[in-house]
Amino acid sequence: MQPPVNLIQRAQYHTRRTAITDESGSYTYGQLLQQSGELAAWLLQGQPHLNQTRVAFLCAPGFGYVAAQWAVWRAGGIAVPLSTHHPLPEINYILQNSGATVLLYEPLFETLLAPVLESGLLRAVCLPASMIAVSDNILLPFVHPNQQALILYTSGTTGKPKGVVLTHRNLEAQIIPLIDAWQWQPDDYILHTLPLHHTHGIVNALCCALWQGACCHFLPAFDAAAVWRAFLHFPVTLFMGVPAMYQKLIDRYLQQPPPVQQQLSAACRKLRLMVSGSAALPVSVLQTFEQISSHTLLERYGMTEIGMALSNPYRGIRLPGMVGKPLAGGLQVRVVKDHNIIVAEGETGELQVKGDAVFVEYWQNTEATRQAFTPDGWFKTGDVVQVQEGNYRIAGRISTDIIKTGGYKVSALEIEEVLRTHPYIADCAVVALPDENWGEAVSVAVVLKPGPLPVPRNQLPAFLRQWCKTQMATYKTPVNWLFIDQLPRNAMGKIVKPQLKQLFLKDIEG
Ligand code: AMP
Repeated sequence: MQPPVNLIQRAQYHTRRTAITDESGSYTYGQLLQQSGELAAWLLQGQPHLNQTRVAFLCAPGFGYVAAQWAVWRAGGIAVPLSTHHPLPEINYILQNSGATVLLYEPLFETLLAPVLESGLLRAVCLPASMIAVSDNILLPFVHPNQQALILYTSGTTGKPKGVVLTHRNLEAQIIPLIDAWQWQPDDYILHTLPLHHTHGIVNALCCALWQGACCHFLPAFDAAAVWRAFLHFPVTLFMGVPAMYQKLIDRYLQQPPPVQQQLSAACRKLRLMVSGSAALPVSVLQTFEQISSHTLLERYGMTEIGMALSNPYRGIRLPGMVGKPLAGGLQVRVVKDHNIIVAEGETGELQVKGDAVFVEYWQNTEATRQAFTPDGWFKTGDVVQVQEGNYRIAGRISTDIIKTGGYKVSALEIEEVLRTHPYIADCAVVALPDENWGEAVSVAVVLKPGPLPVPRNQLPAFLRQWCKTQMATYKTPVNWLFIDQLPRNAMGKIVKPQLKQLFLKDIEG
């Protein structure tokens, strides 16, 4: 049996080390190779190679998830991880858009997936794969590094999420600079609480740990109390989170009596690195967490399409409010203004990147791919940055239709499209409002259709939120609701979102 992907090949050199710990137990790299090999054989069903068949999988964070991901890669397929946070309409969209023909899932998700399973459109198997009978002699194909490995769905400035296609080479080019920059060691033990349909959880936390033969300890989901318990009771050396998670850790800490706080602070000091990313880390959070933990959070910047591009240093001064410098051995970066002219130091401009880590395309969306790159091949991140003495600061985003809430990237247009399908909503517009806990809060202004309402007006937000949760992930569901007679529009009929934000702020003040 010849594991073809470098990440997997490396596991052969430390088969006895613990790869994964989760609620069900501890698993070695040897067990991971065995389990993923058997599942890969089942996926192949006697064919020599999956030839980039899209295999979707819905698994809770843990050994089952990793075994499924590795199985798809070892059989030559493209892994399409589904989110445990998504309701059925969003899962259906990803299954259809990716053209997945195989679905792996755990029993926990059987009820949610029932309509998909009953449709009979996909070859589906309920994991664990140990229930699958395979012959002892498993022959797995060679998988070329340029082969497509992963499709991650990310929200953009168009309505529906786009599938970011990453090859094995892209993934390696994203992993290796982080191994060096953050000095990953085989003895590392990462506490993993990030979503596993997103680059942060998949590449930065999981793949880096497995690349280096380290141990990845999964919690079922982020829970501040459980994270603190894990810091106390497990040999955790590394933790990665979004700013909202650090805020929740702070809140939880502050609720404890002083003797417990002392224990928690001492537990933090055993870690060697704590990283924050996926959204701007407020300086107040960095400073409060520093007092609690003695860690200056290492803030970095990256994106699903490119992996990580900028990072504060592992050793050396981490500057509050800054995302550091370009990672060594990683991407080329430049900052440009109109017509791709390089800006002078201190001026703001769009961050553009180039290199092996950059994704190949948006899945079956040539137009979106074309628009995302300059004619000479630079990827346009859409983020506005400023460089001061070589250090980068994220100044904002070009599009107001991208919202970052709790580290998740959300498209205002996608939410608007869903809301407009509601029988009581005539029109709507979604904007981001600043929010202490989530960075930005999804906020919607709604114009109702004329006629009687289903509930009293003051209960409308709760009523509509409930409906939203059946249609979209909870983190996309608007938090702030404003009911108005008409949306502010310019002469061209385009909604003026800055003006709408002002209406919201006035409403909140008033
Ligand atoms: P995603 O592809 O979901 O990881 O979202 C990528 C986007 O998150 C970037 O384009 C930025 O807008 C934002 N982002 C990531 N890291 C940071 C950071 N440290 N500070 C501010 N924004 C960030």
